[in-house]
Amino acid sequence: MVAPAVKRKTDIGPPHYEKFLHPIIKENYGKWKYHEVVKAGVLVHVSETGAKIFSVRAASPRLLSSTTILLFCDLADKYSGGYLRFTSRNNVEFMLDNEANIDPLINELKQNNIPVGGTKNTISNIVHTQGWVHCHSSATDASGLVKVIMDDLFEYFTEMTLPHKVKIAVACCLNMCGAVHCSDIAILGVHRRPPKIEHKNLKNMCEIPSTVASCPTAAIRPTYVDGKPSVTIDEDRCMFCGNCFSVCPAMPIADPLNDGVSIWVGGKVSNARTQPTFTKLAIPYLPNNPPRWTEVTCAVKKIVTLYAQDAQKYERVGEWIERIGWPRFFELTGFEFTKEHIDDFKHAGLTYRRTTQMKF
Ligand code: SF4
Ligand code: SF4
Repeated sequence: MVAPAVKRKTDIGPPHYEKFLHPIIKENYGKWKYHEVVKAGVLVHVSETGAKIFSVRAASPRLLSSTTILLFCDLADKYSGGYLRFTSRNNVEFMLDNEANIDPLINELKQNNIPVGGTKNTISNIVHTQGWVHCHSSATDASGLVKVIMDDLFEYFTEMTLPHKVKIAVACCLNMCGAVHCSDIAILGVHRRPPKIEHKNLKNMCEIPSTVASCPTAAIRPTYVDGKPSVTIDEDRCMFCGNCFSVCPAMPIADPLNDGVSIWVGGKVSNARTQPTFTKLAIPYLPNNPPRWTEVTCAVKKIVTLYAQDAQKYERVGEWIERIGWPRFFELTGFEFTKEHIDDFKHAGLTYRRTTQMKF
């Protein structure tokens, strides 16, 4: 006889999300009628049954100290029955069933210097990757850049004054763990030189066939150096992606002199009005200039300010640029048009399907 399947308890993967749903959300699953923004940072979802759930959205720096996490937990216990969630852009949202708790919660968040906002036509929290604090292949920092950019754009988080929402993303290399391909403004770390090969260590640290196979442009070939097996790079084919370094630690790509930051604009995931779009290059290279990255923050602020002044209501950044035309965008921003703006990647077919909108 086959024993009945027992649900095994395991620590692999996250626990089932239902365990953490607010009881009102559980009871009204699939019955939500509409939602609206009550004020900056506060949403209400209304069910067919008349039940309401309020969310108060606050900023988080993504990399949180245990003190900040404890603070969020205490506030959730006090005002939202212990229920909160993190959005994909690292906002923290408190789920409240009692409307009277909204303002006291916001006041206490503000007393702790945690701003409330990020809803509707604002700049939500910036989604970002690991940066120098953690990842081996980063060409720039992530947390540092996010901090200085948001210092400059802070009022757009708390006040709903933009034509539409603006999503900003930071990824510290073109592996893009962040959503830089589909955000309104994307800041992307770039390497600009091929990896340096440590021939002495390579044989001991790396597997040559998998190192060769790791290169998406087939730039790596096996070779012998001083009679020992190693690899060589065809530098003309290298696109400085750093894939090989992830596979072979004897091919470091980080370069303090040449690494930097590029800026991309006009991506979106939304299907509203126009189809989803990938970001396009605005600035190919700005230097890494910590701790304030002045060149990067000025460029981002310039794009946001021009968009705020010039876009029509409900136009996303990409839709605004498409309407005024890319030449006009470069004219308005003063960004230089360079050879890097010409997309010569021959495999990027025009037929990539990026939308769920139907073609008939
Ligand atoms: Fe690492 Fe690149 Fe991801 Fe940044 S984007 S965390 S450098 S893999
Ligand atoms: Fe190939 Fe990328 Fe390594 Fe260049 S950096 S050799 S393109 S894997």
